[in-house]
Amino acid sequence: MLPKPLQQLQKFFEKFPGIGPRQASRFVFFLSKQPKEYIESFIQSLQSMSTEVKLCSNCNLPGLKKNNLCTICSDSRRDKKTIYVVEKEGDALNLEKTNIHNGVYFVLGKNISPVEKTQSAKEQVKNLVKKLKRETNPEVILALNNTREGNFTAMYIKEMFKENELNNVTLTSLGRGLSTGSELEYADEETLRNALKNRH
Ligand SMILES: [Zn+2]
Repeated sequence: MLPKPLQQLQKFFEKFPGIGPRQASRFVFFLSKQPKEYIESFIQSLQSMSTEVKLCSNCNLPGLKKNNLCTICSDSRRDKKTIYVVEKEGDALNLEKTNIHNGVYFVLGKNISPVEKTQSAKEQVKNLVKKLKRETNPEVILALNNTREGNFTAMYIKEMFKENELNNVTLTSLGRGLSTGSELEYADEETLRNALKNRH
C-alpha cells in the first residue's frame, strides 16, 4: 500500500531497537506529513551526527569526534579510576540522572550470553582488561541488569579479571536494591541509590 520511498524509510525504522513494523509505519506517516523545513533539519541532524559524533575511545559512549572523548571522560572533575561497567548507553544515562557518583562508565554494548554469539561484548571485556592494567588501583562497579544474561556477564568479567591477574582492581557489583529480572535502564532513582549504596 505504501509508495516505495515510504517503504524504504519504514525499513530503516524497523531496525531501531524496540520498534516493530506498526510503529515504524507510524513514524513514516508522521514524517510524510511534515513541512519541508522539518525534513531538512532532520536530515541535517542525521548528517552532523554522522560527521561529528564518534564513540568515546575510553568508554564507548557517544562523544564529539574532535574531542575523541565523551563529555563525561573529558570532564576533569570526574574520577577516572571509578568505572561503572554497563550493558548499554541507556543504563549509563539512568545512573547519571541519580547524580550520586562521580565516576566514569564503560559500555559493553551487549550482555554476554552462554548461547548467543556475543563476540563484540567479549572483545569489549578484553579492552576493559587492557585499560585496567594501565591504571593504579581502579575500582570497577558492575552495574549490570539483574537478569540471567546480566549475571552471566558479571561472572564472565570476574573470570577474565582473575585470568588476567588484575589484583590491583577493587571489583564490586550493584547491591540488593535491584530485584531479580529488573533492568537498570528502567530502575527508579531510589532503587539505584540503594543498589549503589549496597554494592558488594
Ligand atoms: Zn567516555
